[in-house]
Parts: sequence; structure tokens; C-alpha cells
Amino acid sequence: MAIKTNEISALIKEQIKHYSQKTESSDIGTVITVGDGIAMVYGLDNAMLGELLLFPHDIYGMVMNLNEDSVGTVLLGEYTLIKEGDIVKRTGKVVEVPVGDGLLGRTVNALGQPIDGLGPIKYDHTRVIERIAPGVMQRKSVDTPIETGIKAIDAMIPIGRGQRELIIGDRQTGKTALAVDTIINQKGKNCLCVYVAIGQKTSTVVRVVERLKEFGAMAYTTVVSATAAELDPLKYIAPYSGVTMAEEWMDKGKDVLIVYDDLSKHAVAYRTLSLLLKRAPGREAYPGDVFYLHSRLLERACRLAPEYGGGSITALPIIETQAGDISAYIPTNVISITDGQIFLVTDLFNAGQRPAIDSGLSVSRVGSSAQYKCMKQVSKSLKIELANFHELQAFSQFGSDLDTETKKTLAHGEALMEVLKQGQYQPMRFERQVIELFAAQKRYLDDLNEEDIHPFLDKLWLNISKTHSELVDELTEKKEMSDDYMKRLDKVIKDLKESLKA
Ligand code: ATP
Ligand code: MG
Repeated sequence: MAIKTNEISALIKEQIKHYSQKTESSDIGTVITVGDGIAMVYGLDNAMLGELLLFPHDIYGMVMNLNEDSVGTVLLGEYTLIKEGDIVKRTGKVVEVPVGDGLLGRTVNALGQPIDGLGPIKYDHTRVIERIAPGVMQRKSVDTPIETGIKAIDAMIPIGRGQRELIIGDRQTGKTALAVDTIINQKGKNCLCVYVAIGQKTSTVVRVVERLKEFGAMAYTTVVSATAAELDPLKYIAPYSGVTMAEEWMDKGKDVLIVYDDLSKHAVAYRTLSLLLKRAPGREAYPGDVFYLHSRLLERACRLAPEYGGGSITALPIIETQAGDISAYIPTNVISITDGQIFLVTDLFNAGQRPAIDSGLSVSRVGSSAQYKCMKQVSKSLKIELANFHELQAFSQFGSDLDTETKKTLAHGEALMEVLKQGQYQPMRFERQVIELFAAQKRYLDDLNEEDIHPFLDKLWLNISKTHSELVDELTEKKEMSDDYMKRLDKVIKDLKESLKA
């Protein structure tokens, strides 16, 4: 069948007439290249940074790069289904997650979707995951402690509500254990918790959730999980999703504790994305904005002023070091962003000193203003005494005949180290911590054998809580020890020690 030329030109003219109408909208683009979870899309002139794009098969992508003639997108779903030439639509929205009390007790993925098999999450609204942190005028200084229940931390490295305290150490040094114990200890303390697992094994996350359930801590906790098997973009957004859920509660005037476990893997996921997006690599191949990645996240932790509701977010980011090197790129970044760090050491851990906290390198830059007075009374000389002890310990290894003063210091240091040992899942109420540290400070433990110290402390607590419970109640109420109180406590300890000797 022959086609007349004038018919063809009419067809073409018709096409041209509608051409501009069809492509007028810059809300529709086409995929030019796709691979490794990254798609380059042409034609989305109005796309925003961080905006969600809808790909075929209901797969979403997030805009990460705005180039001159294309946008770089990371895909948040089964990216092998996306092909060159696929149509992409703008949604006009940035990533949002559900927020509210319906999340308590739940385990969700980085997009806030449930993964615990307990049915859909009940929520009435969502929040965008990126938000500018509260400014100076909206904030108030940190003045209330968050009790971790861990003697070494509450005494030497106190953390306040609204503070950001880094937990840093090599692999398998008890980093997660510290964070989980802190969550367990928040039971009945009016503090909600969010645990964000980034790039961990699914089995590790399951174990943490099981433990939290066992100790009744899931009732006030949300777990956000982006495991090692998940896509890098999900690992990248998981901590922002977590803090967004926490912010909802903070804005309602509540205190929230959020744990990021861990930000090293978060940085690695971001590095992968950046390199795939062909951003220029910098030091250790991380992109130039990796500092901003963590600072904009951790800045969102704060204590709000009373006129803004008075809520708070306390952040415990975790960083894994290689061979104890805290001067690597990511560790130094996060150290400089946070208000202090708890440094865990493999040697101490292997020597049985657990939690393996290095008392010299660990600091809290704001917490002591939020420490209870009684805790300050028993812990003010602790760090110095431990420093003296460690110095003498290294020195005494070379000589055998030591003078009595040195021997005394060594015995006292050993007793202190023993008191600071604490098992996993055994957070301790602050009253007991104060009493134990008081006994150590008054040198009642120096002459005991190492293995007798904890049994003695157990007896002491049993004795006090049974027959002298007024001593505990007074601490709970006043959070301070008067001279008279110290005399009475001292007598109880002395009597117990003598009765045990006899
Ligand atoms: P990873 O680098 O693999 O994340 P991590 O630094 O988070 O490790 P954990 O998983 O918390 O370390 O702890 C490592 C091991 O040490 C676990 O088996 C844990 O049970 C044990 N552990 C941690 N803290 C203590 C403690 N205070 N007392 C006894 N055992 C502990
Ligand atoms: Mg861990």
C-alpha cells in the first residue's frame, strides 16, 4: 500500500503540534544509564535534592546529584528491574517516615515499614527525614543526667540528657553492650529509646531485639534496622529516619535516647554511593562532605528550652576503629562533632576488665554539670587515682621492692578497677553505685582479695537495702550526702566488714 507524501507530512505536522504539549512537563524523565543501584535520569529539570522519584514496578529512587543535564538517583528497591529508557516521574516529596507512639515496641526498616511481622504500624502523620537542627535560641544547656546504669560511665564520664556521647573502640570490645545496657536501664525513667542498626548482621540485630524484649525494654523502644544485606541507600538514610522518629517525641516534650550502631558503616555506605555517583573522592576515598553527613545528623540531638516543650534527644553514636586508631578520618570527625567519647580498648577487654573503658582517653565535656551531687562526691578523685595507678603499675613491673606508699596506691587502684567491673545486662541503680564507690573511696576494699570484692559489695547492698533502707531512700530523695549521712554509711560498712572478719 502506497503512502502519499502529503499524508506523511500531515502526520508529522500533527505530531509536532502535540509534541510540545506532551513534553512540556518536566516532571517526567527517562533513565539514561542504570547500574549498581544508581540511575541517571534525563529530563527532570525541576527535581529537588533528596526528592523521591517513581520508577516502574513501584520502585522509588532518591535524588542525590543534580547535574547540568541529568539527575543522579539512588534506587531504594530491586534495582535490577530498572532498564535504560524507563519512564521516571517526580513525586514532589522528599523521603518521609511514619512517627508517633505506634512505633514503640516495633522493628522497622529505614523507610519506617514494619519488618517484625506484627502487622502495619499505626500512625496519623509522617515527617520528612531531613530537617534543620534546632538553633541556639531554641536550646537549653544540659542539666539532667541520663543514667546509663554502668558504674564506670555514670561516675567518670557522666552523660546528660541532650548530650552526644560517642562510643568508640575496635571490633568486639563491648560497644553495642554499653548502648543496649543503657537502653535497658531507662525502664521507668521516662525516656523513650531508638536503636538504629546500620550495616550489621541480621542475627546481631535479632539478638539485640530479643534481649530488649527479655528485659521489658521494647515497650519504650523502636528499632530501625538497615542490615548489611540491604541496599546502601537504605543504610545511608536509616539514622536520619531514626532521629526523625525521635524528634517527634522531643517536640512533644519527651526525653529520647538514640543509639546509632554504627556510624563507621554509615560512612562506608555513603562513600559507596558517592563513588558510584562519580563524586570526587577525598581522604581515604570518602567524599568531601562526609563531615557534614554526620554533623547534620548529630546536631539534631539537643535539649530544647522550656518554651519549646523542654524535650531532649541524647545521642550515642558508635564508631568502630581499626587497631585502636582513633586518629583515622571518620573517628576524628565524629570525635570533634560529639561532646565527649567513651573509648573501649581490646587489651582491657581481653584482660577481663569489662566494660573495657580507658579512663584516660574517655571524657564527657558537658555531663558533669548534669551529674547528681552524691555521684560527684564519690567520683571526683576517681580519674586521678586511676591515672596514678596505671602509671605506677607500668613502673612497678620493673622493680620488686616497693615502698609502702606505692604498695598502698597499687592496692587502692586494683580495688577501684575491680569495683568498676560490671557484667553485661546488669545495669545498676545509682544509689547502689554511690554506696559501692563510697566503700572504695574510703579504702574499705583495698585489703580484700580481688575475688572477694564483688561478693563483699553484694553483701553490703543486701545488708543496706534490708536493714538500713533509709540510707537508700535518702539518696533517692536528696541525691546528696551530708556529713552526717556519710558517717552513718561509713559505720554500716565498717560494721559489716568487722562482722565478716570475725
Ligand atoms: P562489634 O564490633 O562486633 O559490633 P561490639 O564492640 O559491639 O562488637 P559487643 O557485641 O557489645 O561488642 O560485645 C562483644 C562480646 O563481649 C559479646 O559476646 C558480649 O556478650 C561480651 N561483653 C560485652 N560487654 C561485656 C561485659 N560487660 N561483661 C561480659 N561480657 C561482655
Ligand atoms: Mg556492636
